[in-house]
Amino acid sequence: MDASTSSLPTITLKPREDRRLRHGHLWVFSNEIAKVDGDAPAGALVSVTAAHGAPLGVGIYNPHSLIAVRITGGVGAPLDADWFRSMIGRALRLRSQLFPGGRTYRLLHSESDGVPGVIVDRFDEVMVVQTAAYGMEERRALLYDALMEIDGVRGVVERNDHSLRSLEGLPSHVGVARGTADPQIIDDGVLRYHLDPLGGQKTGFYLDQRANRIAMRPLMARGRVLDLFSNNGGFALHALHAGASEVIAVDSSAVAAVEIERNRELNGLGPIDVRVADVFSELHDLRLRGEKFDCVIADPPPFARSKKNVAAARKKYVELFSGSLRLLAPEGTAFLATCSHHVTRDTFLEIIRESLFRSGRSGIILEERGASPDHPIHPVMPETGYLHGAILRAGS
Ligand code: SAH
Repeated sequence: MDASTSSLPTITLKPREDRRLRHGHLWVFSNEIAKVDGDAPAGALVSVTAAHGAPLGVGIYNPHSLIAVRITGGVGAPLDADWFRSMIGRALRLRSQLFPGGRTYRLLHSESDGVPGVIVDRFDEVMVVQTAAYGMEERRALLYDALMEIDGVRGVVERNDHSLRSLEGLPSHVGVARGTADPQIIDDGVLRYHLDPLGGQKTGFYLDQRANRIAMRPLMARGRVLDLFSNNGGFALHALHAGASEVIAVDSSAVAAVEIERNRELNGLGPIDVRVADVFSELHDLRLRGEKFDCVIADPPPFARSKKNVAAARKKYVELFSGSLRLLAPEGTAFLATCSHHVTRDTFLEIIRESLFRSGRSGIILEERGASPDHPIHPVMPETGYLHGAILRAGS
């Protein structure tokens, strides 16, 4: 332990509870702690040791959360302006390699980028931040100042209206924290989109599906394409741009439908049949009418919000995916996805198998896909890899 960590309060784990951390996991759960030495209020930086005294790392402490310690990345201490600058610097170097010249990407993907509980999406001039860890909320001024130092950044928006906040005892809040948050026109390397940093859903744009939209382009480049849960049009717009002859987009949100239209105009694309409807009833109607599609995209919101819901969610995914597969023309292609944190890859593949069986279709998996690489997965924390997708080709 060096000088900067030796003065920290110490959390000693119970015997044998150090194993997960020694293998690289980054959370200590409250029931794994034997004792706390020193003054460690919520948010404090602490040093974590095994029962026999071996140091395991430093992290931020929250005695009121089930996740009592979140290990921080880099040298770990102190969590000052330089620490934030160095974590952001490393994250920026990766993104500038992934998207040369790009100004829209996820900059920090929480634990995977060494900054626990913090997500930062860059939409050109505006950084949109979500924080789900007490210790990071306390130090948010340092984070925001460091983000404002990045070339071309003019504002920081807090998008702290997600449910995880209450687990850490943090209030809900959305607003401009630094500078200005004007609407932006972002681009994903191929197409452009209107983006209001203070409006829209989630952080305003689903960056995680960016590489999947591009991967689907050759398979959406002809015939009829159906984009289910289309939101502001990511897949639908790419389909049209790639060469589809007809695109139907379905979303229950009227706001999303308006956004698709605006994005379609922005890119100078032809018409899209945008339907504000429930996907399940639309699937039913399309089937009754005997309609067929050369490509179907099904990218729903998370159906399993907790572990308890997985069984019910599974049924819903099977209903959605089998309904989508039934609409495929012979040799049609589908992209099916789940972004439920509690649906594992194995469960997802079981859902795919069951959906094929239910729909009476044969199919082959062309590719399994995850989130775009600016949403890196921490190898020891499957929690950071929440998106599973499969590109499926139906038989003749
Ligand atoms: N595919 C999109 C992201 C989908 S997000 C993209 O690439 O950007 C999920 C979307 O599902 C949201 O826009 C939400 O409005 C919509 N939604 C949720 N439940 C729905 C339902 N039952 N029927 C139709 N749309 C629904």
